[in-house]
Amino acid sequence: MSKPRVAIFDFAGCEGDELQIVNLEESLLGLLGHVEVVTFREAMKERTDDYDIAIVEGSCTRPEDEEKLKHIRECASIVIAIGSCAAIGGINSLKNHLDPAWYRAEVYGDKADWFDTYKARPISAVIPIEAAVPGCPIDRDEFLHVVKTLLLGRTPDIPNYPICVECKKNENVCAFDRGEVCVGPVTRAGCNSCCVNEGTKCWGCRGLIDDPEKNAHMEVLEAHGLTPDEVIKNFQTYFGWEGDQ
Ligand code: SF4
Ligand code: SF4
Ligand code: SF4
Repeated sequence: MSKPRVAIFDFAGCEGDELQIVNLEESLLGLLGHVEVVTFREAMKERTDDYDIAIVEGSCTRPEDEEKLKHIRECASIVIAIGSCAAIGGINSLKNHLDPAWYRAEVYGDKADWFDTYKARPISAVIPIEAAVPGCPIDRDEFLHVVKTLLLGRTPDIPNYPICVECKKNENVCAFDRGEVCVGPVTRAGCNSCCVNEGTKCWGCRGLIDDPEKNAHMEVLEAHGLTPDEVIKNFQTYFGWEGDQ
């Protein structure tokens, strides 16, 4: 039986998630025993439209991205978004709350008219997908879990509870008690609260949990004398697209 053919694509992003795939090292060899990678710009020259599984990094930020994504959807029976840019719009969606004329001039200077960009969006805003691997960058083991589970025809198990659960298990001092604003109460767990473990806070790179407990988070803010208006920028680091919905 032939192996499923895998193609890896990148849109607006830093390629950090693709680097995570390259860095799978021994696990990558194990994965390659079950799939054949046929397109991967970061690692090989070959390209083809003949593939079964598409793995997509990066946000959709241009009209031409939509056309490419629709073509990918036509070719692949399984599409997986990897990284917060592809899964939730991610850090690219910071611009969604800025004046387009301002950021275009900042980035492209007097060539701003040459580039047709619009709001950054996750790929699921353009095409249906089978799964998303959250994170900025992705966790390699979680990526392997998602790919292997889909290959077996099952649904990947991605946590749907907040970072605070992991953070409390790790007995961290809460960032709010250190005078910082943390978006862990509404962010999807699965990273073992790694940023808080290192003495900082959660920025939300794994995206919102399904049905976040907004009232409970409001209570946390109120208990620390904060209003939504004062903390909204903390939510816009990664939730720029999700916040629009
Ligand atoms: S999710 Fe993070 S690591 Fe991945 S492409 Fe976007 S910015 Fe880079
Ligand atoms: S708010 Fe942030 S620092 Fe506090 S418990 Fe939750 S994840 Fe940890
Ligand atoms: S703690 Fe928050 S920002 Fe850090 S990796 Fe986890 S989800 Fe991302």
